[in-house]
Amino acid sequence: MGNRGKHVIDSVHSSGRLETGLGSPHPMGAREPPVKITLVPSAVDGRGEEALQFLTSYLINETVGIDCGALGQYRTPADQSRIRHVLLSHTHIDHIGSLPVLVENAYEGKRDCMTVHGSPAVLDCLRRDIFNNRVWPDFLSLSTPEAPFLKLATLEPGRPVELEGLKITPVPVNHVVPTFGFIIEDGKGAVVISSDTGPTEEIWRRANETPNLKAIFLEATFPDSMTPLATVARHLTPVMFADEVRKLSRPVRVIAVHIKARFHAEMVKALGELGLSNLEIGRSGKTYSF
Ligand SMILES: [Zn+2]
Ligand SMILES: [Zn+2]
Repeated sequence: MGNRGKHVIDSVHSSGRLETGLGSPHPMGAREPPVKITLVPSAVDGRGEEALQFLTSYLINETVGIDCGALGQYRTPADQSRIRHVLLSHTHIDHIGSLPVLVENAYEGKRDCMTVHGSPAVLDCLRRDIFNNRVWPDFLSLSTPEAPFLKLATLEPGRPVELEGLKITPVPVNHVVPTFGFIIEDGKGAVVISSDTGPTEEIWRRANETPNLKAIFLEATFPDSMTPLATVARHLTPVMFADEVRKLSRPVRVIAVHIKARFHAEMVKALGELGLSNLEIGRSGKTYSF
């Protein structure tokens, strides 16, 4: 893992690489680059950075994925094989859809394989609904000690995991299925990825206690005209989004993600009218620096 010293949080189609000092020393005299986070593109029109986001995934330091909506469509099998860990927030298809493809692309027949992390509900879904010899071959049963396809690891609420120089804390959020948001720390800075959630509390409480919080990626899914649906589906509208941002005790960059593509223009307009000074509209393929 020659890239362990690089701490990049990016998404599929990341164009830049983040390097920070988190977790490992830098060469003498090397300037510590900022942390960069790229939103993985999933609306493929070949023009590079795109406003629309159909599927959700982020890639950190090229070796850790958060969700897998589009990671299996990312770059090349060689690049995908560098992804050592994938943490899944929840079981909805826009967050796990390309996982079977990723596991297949990344497979190198080596003892050291990818580990997929999730709550018990997520891992149960993978076993029963994905790797079940119907939707996809049962890569778990097909794995041998010498050449496993993947390993599963259980995430527990509030219990950090240390992966590739990052400390990642899963925090339950308010969605229709068991869902984790994530607080990602590298020793110098922290970023929150909310995942899918309606109004929630614990992740903001923890975020307010986290030193050097730089940014949050916060979902905004439905327009305010669809508040009843947002409430039932446990997502946020722009008005609800602003209420969540106000739970932060410090001003940080706020990046709106998970905007339903068919309402994108309406949502961007409404989000812009909220008066949030630190607001940015997430762009798939963009690398964010913190
Ligand atoms: Zn969801
Ligand atoms: Zn979603």
